[in-house]
Amino acid sequence: MSGIRDWAERMWTGDLGKTNIHPGQARVQFEEVDESLGFMSAFSNALVLDTEEGLVFIDTSSLFHADPLFEGVRAWSSKRVHTGIYTHGHVDHVFGLLHFDAEAREKNWPTTRILAHQSCPDRFDRYALTQGYNGHINARQFNFPKPVFPGRFRYPDETVAKERALEVGGVRIELYHDKGETDDHLWAWIPHRKALYTGDLFIWASPNCGNPQKAQRYPREWAVALRKMQALGAETLFPGHGPPIFGAQRISQALGDAARLLEIMTQQTLDLMNEGATLDDILHSVELPSELLERPYLRPIYDDPRFIVRNLWRLYGGWYDGNPAHLLPSPERDLARALAEEAGGSRSLARAARRYAEESKDSLACELIELAWRADPEDPEVAALRTEIYRNRAESETSLMAKGIFQAAARDSDPSTD
Ligand SMILES: [Zn+2]
Repeated sequence: MSGIRDWAERMWTGDLGKTNIHPGQARVQFEEVDESLGFMSAFSNALVLDTEEGLVFIDTSSLFHADPLFEGVRAWSSKRVHTGIYTHGHVDHVFGLLHFDAEAREKNWPTTRILAHQSCPDRFDRYALTQGYNGHINARQFNFPKPVFPGRFRYPDETVAKERALEVGGVRIELYHDKGETDDHLWAWIPHRKALYTGDLFIWASPNCGNPQKAQRYPREWAVALRKMQALGAETLFPGHGPPIFGAQRISQALGDAARLLEIMTQQTLDLMNEGATLDDILHSVELPSELLERPYLRPIYDDPRFIVRNLWRLYGGWYDGNPAHLLPSPERDLARALAEEAGGSRSLARAARRYAEESKDSLACELIELAWRADPEDPEVAALRTEIYRNRAESETSLMAKGIFQAAARDSDPSTD
């Protein structure tokens, strides 16, 4: 069995460990999957088709893996890159063609045509408005030492609205748009191979559909996209992150399970919203489909499905959460100081927080230590306890999103990281 098939098999059977599998865990290697079809496994993947007119990339991977992508593809084919397709405009999918572009300039080849959804340029425009913000959130999310986010993007030459079929060198590629992780998502179907490229609509983890620090996501539309893909009867599935899935039955199961998770979360949240529940009620009464979250391809290791509720609330409702005190609140610091005073000082609050932490009541421990620290951020005992509580909280959570935010919080109050 070739390397990639063996890896795919081991991931499917859960042989690679329950907790260490991350969507970004990858071989960082370009491999031929089949004649004239190659797959780059990296933090974010790319699929490469070798056609008579040149190479077609579906996704391009990221800047971090542009070197091995170039080397791997060039050891396999010397043809120019005819077309590059962005499944969406996230930075880890759109910077991998760097060396191919330089090579094309050097050899006077025609410039690669870039295709993306029609909302992709709007996304790049938005990134220009929020470069600093995106740097900060990515530093928290991925534990980067300092904020980094690109300032310039290669915009698409042609855009797709709802769907488009391409014919390059005798190969037909069908592109379809559905909202899901983003508003500019495309997924691809290559009919003669019965091959599907899902982009980030499938990532070998619970869908990244609630991400606390990012723009709106679309749980219901995402499930619709997965059901459409499921109906195609694909025999090979290439995801935006993680290994391929080989075999029609497995693919149908994986897509169906991911869709069902989103459908369940969406339905429960909408039902409660329609009954007049507050956000707090919904957050604490939605039941997670735990049997689905145990599947090797749906574990909550990247995003946390509980965050989907908030994304639905934002999408279908407003920002008012149902608590009238939150409508026009006092500064958090004033509330924290008032409560600390009533409790006998910020250290009393902090010690109460420690007691809750010892009883594994992590959410309450975080609420109280946060109040203590906001009341008195200079107190070394409060700061040290806050760091300890968030460090432990980061350990006990499963999702990278929650871990990243709690680790960043721990650093904020840690005197040794000044
Ligand atoms: Zn991605």
